[in-house]
Amino acid sequence: MQLIDLHADTLTALYYRSGEKLKDQEFLRELPVANLAQNNCAIDLAKLRQADSLAQFFVLWLNLHACELHKVSPWDLFMKQYQQLRQQIDTFNSQISLVSNVAELVAARAQNKLAGFVCVEEGAFISSLEQLDVAYHLGVRYITLVWNYETHIGVPSAIDQQRGLKPFGFEMVAAMQELGMLVDVSHLSDQGVRDVLQIAKKPIIASHSNVRALCNHTRNLSDELIRGIAQNGGVIGVNCVPYFLDEQDKTIRIQRMVEHLEYIYRLAGEDVLAIGNDFDGFGSLTPELDEIKTIADLPLVADALIKAGFSSRQVDKIFNKNALRILTTIN
Ligand SMILES: [Zn+2]
Repeated sequence: MQLIDLHADTLTALYYRSGEKLKDQEFLRELPVANLAQNNCAIDLAKLRQADSLAQFFVLWLNLHACELHKVSPWDLFMKQYQQLRQQIDTFNSQISLVSNVAELVAARAQNKLAGFVCVEEGAFISSLEQLDVAYHLGVRYITLVWNYETHIGVPSAIDQQRGLKPFGFEMVAAMQELGMLVDVSHLSDQGVRDVLQIAKKPIIASHSNVRALCNHTRNLSDELIRGIAQNGGVIGVNCVPYFLDEQDKTIRIQRMVEHLEYIYRLAGEDVLAIGNDFDGFGSLTPELDEIKTIADLPLVADALIKAGFSSRQVDKIFNKNALRILTTIN
């Protein structure tokens, strides 16, 4: 089953293992060279092949706290990580292409190449619409509006669910949709997601978010917001992060991921379902026991969905067609 995975931090992980890093990471220079082909991450080129990857969304995660500590602007950190991403893709350009739309994705596939999209997790690197324009022209195709810090864009779920977008956040959402960039509401507060849904003229995404009714974590989506995103025509990328799957069980279980997908399906239908694993963006709590360790294990989730009663047409939608549909809205 072809897979479009909406969220992975692999390129940021590689950035901090290359020479280009913030000062407190200098000691990592001792580590063996890590790159897209060879690393100890959950994603590399061979694993993407094993997962039958149709497209991988690579986020550049910008840690505002580290930026402040080291007096690096979020924009500069974005540019550094972006250059490193380009380097990685260029080095392995016989195997993978950086793409920015469905036509380029199809072209990469026709050459038997993998396809990667670039996106950014933390909207605060944008402080003007001119910068947004530059990011778009560099190929950035979604921005996660906030991470876990309150910014000039809005308030994250980690801080306050009652306060939402700031004035610039409203402006940015409108400008992103006009440009052809997806708005990602994962990490945003409940009120922030309502704000986005209210002004959205195009489908939005929650690139890596699970179900709050099954696991009561602020990062997970309430029923109201799941329905709202479905009505907007958007998608929710369900992830395999242990603390977003289950409050008690610390082990990543395939069945639990299926239960989150089933819940959303029953509540809001089959068109809103997608996959956004958040690989290389979280630490495993029980590495020996986890049933999903890398992206190469995703075919097991497809099998489990079939066993749970989903048709192969529905699994195809969950694994790639729904995400493809969203991508056609940004061309
Ligand atoms: Zn995240």
